[in-house]
Amino acid sequence: MSQTIPHTQLPTEPEISCSTCAACCCQLEVMLFGDEDVPQRFIDTDQWGSEVMRRLDDNWCAALDRNSMRCTIYEVRPLICREFELGAAECLEERQGIAQAYR
Ligand code: SF4
Ligand code: SF4
Repeated sequence: MSQTIPHTQLPTEPEISCSTCAACCCQLEVMLFGDEDVPQRFIDTDQWGSEVMRRLDDNWCAALDRNSMRCTIYEVRPLICREFELGAAECLEERQGIAQAYR
């Protein structure tokens, strides 16, 4: 008589999660479309006069907590940040880019 051995299927790839990522997408330029409640101190103007999220010298968004690597204005984060999809092509590309940068 055959017996079924209980087992757990291991994932073939490491799980894509923001907690295993150094907020890679928060280094991208984030344009604002005037409908956000983003605090003024985090807003900059680019060379074409458009409002963008301010970035600090390390290139990450000014609203990112450097210790926790979490967004400090999550509830009122810009539309672009809300629409950035975990696991989508752009997310994978950013994660890959950072991994290469630190190699
Ligand atoms: S790049 Fe992807 S995994 Fe990394 S913080 Fe952004 S959404 Fe999360
Ligand atoms: S506003 Fe928040 S989610 Fe958007 S780039 Fe800045 S830290 Fe990241």
